[in-house]
Amino acid sequence: MALTAWHRRIVTGRKRLAAFGITPSLFVYSALAVVCTMLLAVSAISRAASTASTARMNAEQISGFAVIFDAANYISAERGPANNYMCSPASDGETAREAWLAAQRKTDQALTAAIQAGAPPRAIDEVRGQLSAGRKLVALVAEGRRDNRRPIDIQFAVTTMFRAWDLYHSEITVQSGLDIITRDPGLSAVILQGTALSDMREYAGRMGSYLITSMAAQEKISAEKLQTIRGLRARLDDSWRFLAPAVLGADGDAMLRQRALEVQRAFFGAGVQLVDSEIAYNFEQGRFSLDGASFSARYMKLLTPLTELRNTYLTRLVATYEARKTHATMALLRDGIITFILLGLLVGLMLKVRKRLVQPLLQGVDDVVALADGRMTETREHKDQIYEIHKLFKAIAVLQVRLGERAELTRQLEQLAETDQLTGLFNRRGFERRAMDADGAAQLIVVDIDHFKTVNDQYGHPVGDMVLRQVAQMMTQIAGTDAVIARLGGEEFAILCEKQQPRAAILLARRLKKHLETMPLGISNQESLRVTASFGVSVDAGLPLTEHLKRADDALYRAKADGRNRVRIARTTKTRPRTMYMPVPLSPAA
Ligand code: GH3
Ligand code: MG
Ligand code: MG
Repeated sequence: MALTAWHRRIVTGRKRLAAFGITPSLFVYSALAVVCTMLLAVSAISRAASTASTARMNAEQISGFAVIFDAANYISAERGPANNYMCSPASDGETAREAWLAAQRKTDQALTAAIQAGAPPRAIDEVRGQLSAGRKLVALVAEGRRDNRRPIDIQFAVTTMFRAWDLYHSEITVQSGLDIITRDPGLSAVILQGTALSDMREYAGRMGSYLITSMAAQEKISAEKLQTIRGLRARLDDSWRFLAPAVLGADGDAMLRQRALEVQRAFFGAGVQLVDSEIAYNFEQGRFSLDGASFSARYMKLLTPLTELRNTYLTRLVATYEARKTHATMALLRDGIITFILLGLLVGLMLKVRKRLVQPLLQGVDDVVALADGRMTETREHKDQIYEIHKLFKAIAVLQVRLGERAELTRQLEQLAETDQLTGLFNRRGFERRAMDADGAAQLIVVDIDHFKTVNDQYGHPVGDMVLRQVAQMMTQIAGTDAVIARLGGEEFAILCEKQQPRAAILLARRLKKHLETMPLGISNQESLRVTASFGVSVDAGLPLTEHLKRADDALYRAKADGRNRVRIARTTKTRPRTMYMPVPLSPAA
C-alpha cells in the first residue's frame, strides 16, 4: 500500500516537473550536480576558512607573545641602569638615577601591555612585587654612603632583580609559550627560538652583572661566583648553538642574518673576550683592570646586538604571520568568488540546456505528434540552433514535406477510387459516400440505357463506351451542380437530387429522357446514333439508401416492362420514419 502511494507521489511529481518544461531525470541530475558542487565548494571554503582562521589566530598569538617578550626584555634591561646607579661615582649620581627611573617606567608600561596581550594579571602582580623589592634594595644601596657600599648589598639588590625576571620567565613567558604550543604545535619552533633569544639577552646581562658587583669592590671573584659565570657562559653557548642555524641560515632573512652575524662578532667575539680577560686579570691580580662603570659602558654596547637580534626576530615573526593571515584571507576570498562563479556557471548552463536543448526537444516532440495528427506546423529550423537540434528540426521539416506529398497522393488515390474511369462520374463507392453526406434529404433517379447490348453488338464495345461517355456528359450538363451523378455499373446510372421541391427528381428524369431520345450521339465523323433510357424515381426523401435504390430499381423495372424510354415513379409511403442513410455493401453492377 505504502509503496503504491509512494509510486503515485513520484509519478505526480514527475508530471509536475514535465509541465515545468524540463525532463524529471535532467532536473534530478542537475540538482545533484548543484548539490555536489555546493558540497565541494563548502569543503573548499571551510578548509580555506579554517586556514584563514588559524592564520589569524596564529598572527594574534605571535603578536601577543612578542609583547610578552618585550616586558621580559625591559625587566632585563632595567638592571643595566640599576647597576650603573649603584656603582656610579657620586658626581654622576643624578644622571644615573634619571636613567634608572626612565628604565623603570618602560618596564612598568611593558608589564601593563603584557596584561593586555593576555598575561595573567595575578602573575604580573607577583612580578611587580618582586621588582619593587629589587628596586627598593637598589635605591638603598645607591642612596647610601659611597664609602660604605658593600659588594654583598649590591649583589643582593642585583639577585633580587634577577628573581623578578625569573618569576616573569617561569610564570608568564614559559606559560604563555606552552599555551600557544598546546593550541598549535606547529608554532613550537618559533616559540622556542624566541624564548632562547630572550634567555640569551638575560644570561648575557647576568654575566655582566656578576662581574660588575665584584668590580664595584675591586675584590677577588669567589669560586662560587666563577662557577655561576661559567654556567651562564655554557647556557649562552648552548642557546646559540640551537639558534644559529635558524638565524644564520643562508635561506633566511638577510636582515636577520646581518643581526646574527653582529651578535657573533660583537657579543660572542668582543663581549665574551672582555669577560674572559677581566676574569683572567682578576685571577692574576686579585682585582680588575676596569672599574664597574667603564666595564658596564663597554659591555652594554656589546649586548646591544643581542637585543637587536631579538627585536628583529620578533618583528619578522609577527610580519610573517601577518602575511600568512593576509594570504589565507585572500585565498578564502578567492575560493568564495570561484565557488560563486562556478555555481553561477552551473545554473547558467542548466538554464541554457533547458532553453537550447530540452525545450526545443519537447517542441520537436509536439511537432511530431502534430504531424502524426495531420496538422501542419510552422518550420522551426534556424541557424542559431545547436547542431543536433537544427538537424532535428530539419528532419521534421523534411518529414512535413513528405507527409504533405503523401497526403496529396492519398487524396488523389481516394478520388481515383471513387471515380469511374470511363465516364469521369462517381463510381458506386463515391456515390454511396456522397449519399451519406446528403443526410437523407435527397431524391433518387436510377437510369438504365435501353437495349444497350445491341449497341455493343452492332457497333462494337469501343463505340458502346463512347455512347456511355456522351450520355454521362449530357446528364451532367442537364442535372447541374446540385445533383450527384454516378455510374453504378454497366449502362446503369444513378442521380441523387438534392433539390427540396417534391417533384424535382421527376422533372429532371423527364427532361433527361427527352434530351436523350432526341440527342444524336456521334460515333465517327459521319455517323451518329440515338439511344433511349428508362428512369426509375424514388422521391421519398429520408429513406435508407438501400431502400431508396430498391424502390427506384422497382420503378425502373416497371419502366422497362412498360416498354422502355419512360419514367416511372416509386409509390410513396408517408409512415416510414426518417432515418440516416446507411452505406450499401458493394455489389456487382446490376
Ligand atoms: P435492357 O433494355 O433490358 O436494359 O437491355 P440491355 O441490352 O441494355 O440490357 P442487358 O443487361 O442485357 O445488357 C447490358 C449490356 O451492357 C451488356 C454489356 O455487354 C454491356 N456493357 C456493360 N458494361 C459495358 C461497358 O463498360 N462498355 C460497353 N461498351 N458495354 C458494356
Ligand atoms: Mg440496359
Ligand atoms: Mg442494365
